[in-house]
Amino acid sequence: MQIFPCPFCGPRDEREFHFAGEAGKTRPDTTGEVSPDDWATYLHMHRNEKGRTREVWVHTPCAEMFIMERNSVTMEVLGTECLRAKS
Ligand SMILES: [Zn+2]
Repeated sequence: MQIFPCPFCGPRDEREFHFAGEAGKTRPDTTGEVSPDDWATYLHMHRNEKGRTREVWVHTPCAEMFIMERNSVTMEVLGTECLRAKS
């Protein structure tokens, strides 16, 4: 078991979290026509980087999404970043 840091709740069991995708992907602009190739690229093509990665995660109990930076080889968590504006 690994402990992941939720930026809102603090350290928690990894089983409380869900991977939501790679950070930095841009959703196609749906105000115009989006080609099937563009949708397929957005949905299915991943960088799958080895080493330092930035990913979007969700902490299920608080339902907050945030960026977690971690090393995909060692699984070390390097930091987190809130996605919503601070109030
Ligand atoms: Zn949380």
